[in-house]
Amino acid sequence: MKNIVVFLYLYMCCKNDGGVRGVSDEESLNYLRKYGYLEANSMGETSQISVSTYERSLRDFQRMVGIPVTSILDRNTQHAMKRPRCGVKDKMVSHGGLRRYAVQRSTWSIENLTFKIWRYPTGLTQDSVDKTIQKAFDLWSEYTDLTFKPTPSKANIDIAFLRNDHEDGYPFDGREGQLAHTFLPEYGGAIHFDISEDWTIDSRDGKNLLQVAAHEIGHALGLLHSEKCNSIMTPLYNDNLFDVKLYPDDIQRIQNLYGPKTKRSQPPIFPWFLNLPSENPCISKLHRTHFGFSNEIPAFYFNPCILKDLN
Ligand SMILES: [Zn+2]
Ligand SMILES: [Zn+2]
Repeated sequence: MKNIVVFLYLYMCCKNDGGVRGVSDEESLNYLRKYGYLEANSMGETSQISVSTYERSLRDFQRMVGIPVTSILDRNTQHAMKRPRCGVKDKMVSHGGLRRYAVQRSTWSIENLTFKIWRYPTGLTQDSVDKTIQKAFDLWSEYTDLTFKPTPSKANIDIAFLRNDHEDGYPFDGREGQLAHTFLPEYGGAIHFDISEDWTIDSRDGKNLLQVAAHEIGHALGLLHSEKCNSIMTPLYNDNLFDVKLYPDDIQRIQNLYGPKTKRSQPPIFPWFLNLPSENPCISKLHRTHFGFSNEIPAFYFNPCILKDLN
């Protein structure tokens, strides 16, 4: 390993862009190995790699994160390697300790799935975390017939905020770096968030829980990382993504696994159409409540009282 690193160092001194690097040569090798671009032996070490193999792994990484493909450890590449990201490997290899990720197609065989959050982060209320996680699940049920409901008992998908080594073989690394990781359905679909992060909701500071949860749920449903930057399944965290949603690439890939949505919930009959006096529907003090809320459209969109108030 040492000889290889020295060799690569000499090589890259000639090939990189000569700028101040934030990622050392050995760090880049570790990163590429960690995320599946370079195969590791049973000791977890990268052995006998050639320059062409290293260049190919850099190209694969550059394609995955949507930066210019240069085959060298340039500034863009170093910057990308420094960005916070998902802990799931970008490339799947099929030996050693990585085998649990080496699945081409891993899906749930049932449509109605349950989840349970069994350890919460500090700094956020449980209610706000519950709502955010449900919102993230709802993004995926919007385009499939999958449903996701919380349960206090045994769940299909276990969710927890955990610290450092939490005894699953994939320790977290403290603040920044890896934000979360998830096991594919075949391995239980558990979602782990790094509790060391500054998780936030509806804030431009910290790490946006909805964005990371939506991404990790994609893994829990069987999706791997996408090379499309306009995808919730891109592996790097996006500091500037505030409108968290599924993109065409995500929708196509999840529907390839589970099919398109065929079941639409029926909109409820809104009580004010039945019970309130027809001459003045705004007479009731209930008009600001959200009863009649459907899965699709908040009921107040149809409430003439609210429209009147807005006018
Ligand atoms: Zn991921
Ligand atoms: Zn874990």
